[in-house]
Amino acid sequence: MNFLEKKICEEGIVLSSTVLKVDSFLNHQIDPRFMKEIGSEFADRFKSSNIDKILTIESSGIAPAVFAGLDMDVPVLFARKRKSLTLNEGLITASVYSYTKQEQNEISVSTKWLNPGERILIIDDFLAHGEAALGLAQLVQKAEAHVCGFGIVIEKSFQAGRQKLENQGYRVESIARIREMSPKGISFWKEESE
Ligand code: 5GP
Repeated sequence: MNFLEKKICEEGIVLSSTVLKVDSFLNHQIDPRFMKEIGSEFADRFKSSNIDKILTIESSGIAPAVFAGLDMDVPVLFARKRKSLTLNEGLITASVYSYTKQEQNEISVSTKWLNPGERILIIDDFLAHGEAALGLAQLVQKAEAHVCGFGIVIEKSFQAGRQKLENQGYRVESIARIREMSPKGISFWKEESE
């Protein structure tokens, strides 16, 4: 079991066979020391990808993305889910459906911070159906920048997200890959079972 899988087993709460709550270190309270380790893991996995910038989405993607950005010494940009009073010109937008909230959100970034030709690493807290990830990739494409890959903290491998991203030719690096979960326990994909 890696450091994140261990933490999920110790502190994660399985709300149903599809929803995991990790409020103690990622989705509500943040454990900075632990997030630093997550950031270093992403930096290590993408060290040969010549990343210029990290793109994530508010709010739970920000902590892991910032620690990865610190380690990789690159800026971190987060897409907004709500319209901002100060973010009103030169916007790139994409539409993202949230299965957890059952609503369609328009996500946006300013063209000022996402430039043609930039090499972008996309980071998010969870990968489930891949909607958020594909929306972020659309923002990068619309800006004529390049998606170098996805760094995911927790992937629920029993949902379709990874497959959708891989079908589009993207590299996906998830630190924990949940194979199955229930209130009785959580099982992870292991290298040898892939
Ligand atoms: P997707 O767009 O891949 O369907 O879902 C990813 C987004 O939904 C993530 O950004 C995350 O915020 C949220 N999400 C999906 N599944 C879970 C889950 O099991 N637990 C938590 N805490 N968030 C989730």
